[in-house]
Amino acid sequence: MIIGSHVSFGNEQLLGSVKESCSYGANTFMFYTGAPQNTIRKNIDKNLTNKALELMKDNNIDINNVICHAPYIVNLANNKDLSKYDFSINFLKNELLRCDDLGVKYLVLHPGSSVGIERKKALDNIIYALNKIISKESKTIILLETMAGKGTELGTTLEEIKYLIDGVEDKSRIGVCLDTCHLNDAGFDMSDFNKYLDDFNNIIGLKYIKCIHINDSKNIINSHKDRHANIGYGTIGFDNLLKIVNHELLKDVPKILETPFIGNNDNDKERLYPPYKYEIEMLKKGKFNPNLFNDIRKEYQK
Ligand code: ZN
Ligand code: FE
Ligand code: FE
Repeated sequence: MIIGSHVSFGNEQLLGSVKESCSYGANTFMFYTGAPQNTIRKNIDKNLTNKALELMKDNNIDINNVICHAPYIVNLANNKDLSKYDFSINFLKNELLRCDDLGVKYLVLHPGSSVGIERKKALDNIIYALNKIISKESKTIILLETMAGKGTELGTTLEEIKYLIDGVEDKSRIGVCLDTCHLNDAGFDMSDFNKYLDDFNNIIGLKYIKCIHINDSKNIINSHKDRHANIGYGTIGFDNLLKIVNHELLKDVPKILETPFIGNNDNDKERLYPPYKYEIEMLKKGKFNPNLFNDIRKEYQK
């Protein structure tokens, strides 16, 4: 099982991400090259990258399974403010180059939100931008994430994802990142994942799936909310998520947890602890831990 979580990048850049992943017992990970909610980025430090690659080798982490996530404020769907739209295109061009510098193959991207413009027009804006961003200068593959349909988010149906891929000229540079919470919230039944994969294969083709975000959901199917829950503590449930992480057709696809940190106690959210070591353990063992929250608090309060 290729499994890891979202980790931070921070001062030690990729080296920090690798160290954090190792502490969770993960064999892959996903990171943002800076804060997810802004576009301020530092240059990639070659020395730190080399150290990170060495540490990955020692810990059996294959760089080909490592994922970078673009900041979620860039929006390629709306070009009402042309300077913002151009900024997003340029930012992502550079983000692809940063991935090359790090040796990372995949960049996950939220397709965008239409906010006030016609959906079809918004999809065409995304396609136009993607074809500008994907250049011969970089090798990085962009993975469009399946979205929950919160607000005016695009990429919530198989047909929309297909439309976007169809519009991208270089198909070797585009793929899909599934997100189980988003799929549930978009109206897909995760207890019948085989049906979803069947439909995905018929409409898009399974070969496009290069990453899958494993999250439970705080909301019911088709709620269009996008609030992630800890594994087994949401409406999708442990058994359904376990089947997905062990799915034969997705066995070579990296699985990334983006579940919420756990508060010190239920009322006091001042200190938050990462759940990933325990959630990875549950999924590897195939056994639900009903004491997850307490076990996590105990470990980190030691
Ligand atoms: Zn995402
Ligand atoms: Fe996600
Ligand atoms: Fe999400």
